[in-house]
Amino acid sequence: MREAIIILAVIAILAGLTLFKYRRQVRMMIEFWRSIRKLQQASRPHGEMPEPPRNEGKLVSCARCRTWVPEERAIRLGKTATYCSTDCLEKSATAV
Ligand SMILES: [Zn+2]
Repeated sequence: MREAIIILAVIAILAGLTLFKYRRQVRMMIEFWRSIRKLQQASRPHGEMPEPPRNEGKLVSCARCRTWVPEERAIRLGKTATYCSTDCLEKSATAV
């Protein structure tokens, strides 16, 4: 058990020394990684399934165009199908 602790301590010291030696490179890598993350967040494409916007009542997605609309504004058809507008309801009705 004691050997394990000593080995762990040696590994920790070696890792610390390595980090200290390459601290500039490590910092550069972190900066690089951060800038990549920023770029990814900035140029994130609008997903196919839009996320429901927050701080509104319960939201349902339109069965045709997938737009999220508040439940009270949605047009219901049967038990499961909901539409954002009569336009979408008519389009999906004529499409079938
Ligand atoms: Zn719709």
